[in-house]
Amino acid sequence: MNLNILVLPGDGIGTEVTREAIRVLRHVTDKYHHSVKLTEGLLGGIAIHKTGSPFPPATVELAVKADATLLGAVGLPEFDEAPPEKRPERGLLGIRKAMGVFANLRPVRAYKSLLDSSPLKNDLVEGTDMIIVRELTGGIYYGTPRGISGQGPDTRAVNTMTYTRAEIERVTHMAFHLARGRKKKVTSVDKSNVLENSQLWRQVVVEVAREYPDVTLDHILVDNCAMQLILNPKRFDVVLTENMFGDILSDEAAVLAGSIGMLPSASIGERKSSGVWVGLYEPVHGSAPDIAGQNKANPLGAIMSVAAMLEYSFGLKKEAEAVGVAVEAVLATGRVTADLHPTGAPATTEQVGEAVCAGI
Ligand code: NAD
Repeated sequence: MNLNILVLPGDGIGTEVTREAIRVLRHVTDKYHHSVKLTEGLLGGIAIHKTGSPFPPATVELAVKADATLLGAVGLPEFDEAPPEKRPERGLLGIRKAMGVFANLRPVRAYKSLLDSSPLKNDLVEGTDMIIVRELTGGIYYGTPRGISGQGPDTRAVNTMTYTRAEIERVTHMAFHLARGRKKKVTSVDKSNVLENSQLWRQVVVEVAREYPDVTLDHILVDNCAMQLILNPKRFDVVLTENMFGDILSDEAAVLAGSIGMLPSASIGERKSSGVWVGLYEPVHGSAPDIAGQNKANPLGAIMSVAAMLEYSFGLKKEAEAVGVAVEAVLATGRVTADLHPTGAPATTEQVGEAVCAGI
C-alpha cells in the first residue's frame, strides 16, 4: 500500500514525540512492505515564527492533499497572552476544519504493567479496552444563537445545542463500523430524559443500528455513564456520544490509562474514493513546555497515534496490532519514561522509540 502522510511536529515535546512516532511508522511499514510518502508542514507556534500565522495557507494545502496527518502538539508559553487568533492553538481548530474531520476517536486501554499508575483499584481497571467516538463539529459548541446580552441582573447568556439527522447518522455509522472490528457492542450516551436534542440522537442511532444487526446497541444516560466509567469500565466497547458529553467523558476515561503521555487520539472525516479514511492523528497531551527539549517526554501516545492511523485510515489492522504489542512489551520491561514512574533510571524519549522498533 502507498501511504501519503503529512507530518506536523508542532511545538515543544511535539517535535520529540513525533520523531519517535515516525521512526516506528517507518519501521513497521518497511517490515510489512508498504511505501510511505512523508511531507512535513508547519502548525502552531513554529508556524507563527516562520510565517506569521498558526495555520499558514501552505499547510492547508498539504493537509487537504494528504490521506492522513500526524500531529505532535502545539503551544508555546511566549504566546500565552496573545489574542486567540494569534495563538498556536488556533492552528488546531483550523486544521480540523480544513480536513473536515467530524468524529473524534479516543481509544482507552488499561495496560497490565501500568495498572498501579491508575488511581482506581487494579481489578476494576484491568481488562478495560474501549473506544470513545465523539461527534466533533456539531452540538452546543457550535450551535447558534449564542452569546451574552443585556446588562445588570438581566444579563443573559445563551448557547444552543443543535444536531441534524445527517450529522448524527454519519458519526453513528462510524461507531458501528468500528464496533464490527471489535467486540461488536455500541453504547450510545445521551440525556434523552431531559433534552429533545438527545431524543433525536437516540431515535437516529436506533434507526442506523438496524443496518448493523450483528452489533449490539444499548443506551445510557450521560450522568450514569460518568459513574459506570469508573465503577465498571470493562462493560464498554464502543461509546458513541455527542460533542460536549464526549469532551467530558473522554477526559474522565483518560484517567484509566495511567498517564496522559500514553493516550492517542484520532479525528476522522469522509472516506476517499481510494477507500482511505481522511484522518488527523495526535497524542492527547500538549506541548509540555516544562519538559520540552530534554528527551524526557513519553512518546507512546504519539506512537499509538501511528497505530491508530494504520488501523483507521488505512485499514492495516495487523500492522497496528504489531505496534500495540511492541508497546505493551516495552511497558512490561519497565524501561519507560519518568512519567510512568519506573523503578530504575527512566528511559529517554529516543530509547523508548528505539525499543518499540526493536519489539516489532
Ligand atoms: P500538557 O499536556 O502539555 O502538560 C501537562 C502535564 O503533563 C505537564 O506536567 C507535562 O510535563 C506532562 N506531560 C504531557 N505530555 C507528556 C508526555 N508525553 N510525557 C511526559 N509528561 C507529559 O498540558 P498543558 O501544560 O496544560 O499545556 C501546555 C501547552 O500545550 C499549552 O500551550 C496548551 O495550550 C497546549 N496544548 C496543546 C494541545 C494539543 O496540541 N493538542 C493539547 C493540550 C494542550
